[in-house]
Amino acid sequence: AKTWNLKQHFEGFPKNSDFELRQVQLPEPQNGEVLLEAVFLSVDPYMRPYSRVQMKPGDVMIGAQVAKVIQSKNPAFPVGCHVVGQCGWRTHTISDGTGLTRIIAAWPQDVPLSLALGGLGMPGLTALYGLEEVLTIKPGETVLVNAAAGAVGTVVGQIAKLKGCKVVGSVGSDAKVSYLKELGFDHVFNYKTVSSLEEALKKASPDGYDCYFENVGGDFFSAALPQMKMFGRIAVCGGISQYNDKEPQTGPYPHMSMIFKQLKMEGFLVRRWENKNEESLIRMLTWVKQGKLKCKEHVTTGFENMPAAFMGMLQGDNTGKAVIKV
Ligand code: NDP
Repeated sequence: AKTWNLKQHFEGFPKNSDFELRQVQLPEPQNGEVLLEAVFLSVDPYMRPYSRVQMKPGDVMIGAQVAKVIQSKNPAFPVGCHVVGQCGWRTHTISDGTGLTRIIAAWPQDVPLSLALGGLGMPGLTALYGLEEVLTIKPGETVLVNAAAGAVGTVVGQIAKLKGCKVVGSVGSDAKVSYLKELGFDHVFNYKTVSSLEEALKKASPDGYDCYFENVGGDFFSAALPQMKMFGRIAVCGGISQYNDKEPQTGPYPHMSMIFKQLKMEGFLVRRWENKNEESLIRMLTWVKQGKLKCKEHVTTGFENMPAAFMGMLQGDNTGKAVIKV
């Protein structure tokens, strides 16, 4: 088996020398255990901040994968079945089944299993719960989303459109602007080339925003708050603009907008609604089958390319979900 390990904690933006590829010998699976072979692996923004709190140098990089059971001494996971597991960056894993989820029975043959890491997995569910549970969007409302061309953002925009909202997205390239327009976003701008975020946000929705799905933090957040409508709602999902900062940002944020606009802001983690995942995935699968939800992927081939795929995702190489095909 091969693993990618954290050689040393990241300082600022990750670099190749922070990772180490190792070859390991795995034991035979014991009673209750299975041997998994990775088919698709995920690289996600959370790995960057979590590496600091959950990992020490030498640990295998954390992360989810879609894996196939190739040996089994656990009747719950027979040979040949596919699972999603938090196995980390490994080609092969011995597992006692803890934390493994079988791909839902309703999964159609013609839907790629890699989507279980993206639009029909954790990022897709994040989009759904952020919109339905946190923001409780209503038809006719205007929804703002940043990192809009990514795994979460593309699904946020499409579901908000499905539910009759007007959607404004912010992205980091003109190609991403075009792609999101194809998906039906109402207004999309490139935050890297606009002369002022404030002006771009005003132009995209002169009346302001009812709902804001926040993935970025920093300057974008500061520019967006004053553009909210009265009683606007904000779902704080992520803060990718700050994940590689050496010093934590402390503001100042325009918090007077919070007061005068009487805004409501809530941070959330997707796992809060874990008990709804199966039912939610079935609903989202239906949208995929009906062509109402498109789950674009940015696929990198080769386990050896995982660090490059991870760093590429952090700097915006991906449109849709960044995944690695072993
Ligand atoms: P993406 O697929 O969106 O990939 C990350 C994207 O972030 C890049 O493609 C890049 O796109 C953008 N980005 C990078 N740096 C910056 C920057 N400085 N300013 C603005 N955008 C930047 O990742 P995900 O969809 O998986 O995650 C999106 C957000 O959601 C992240 O903040 C993540 O941490 C959060 N998240 C939170 C969860 C929760 O439970 N709360 C669960 C899952 C994700 P671009 O070219 O547009 O810059």
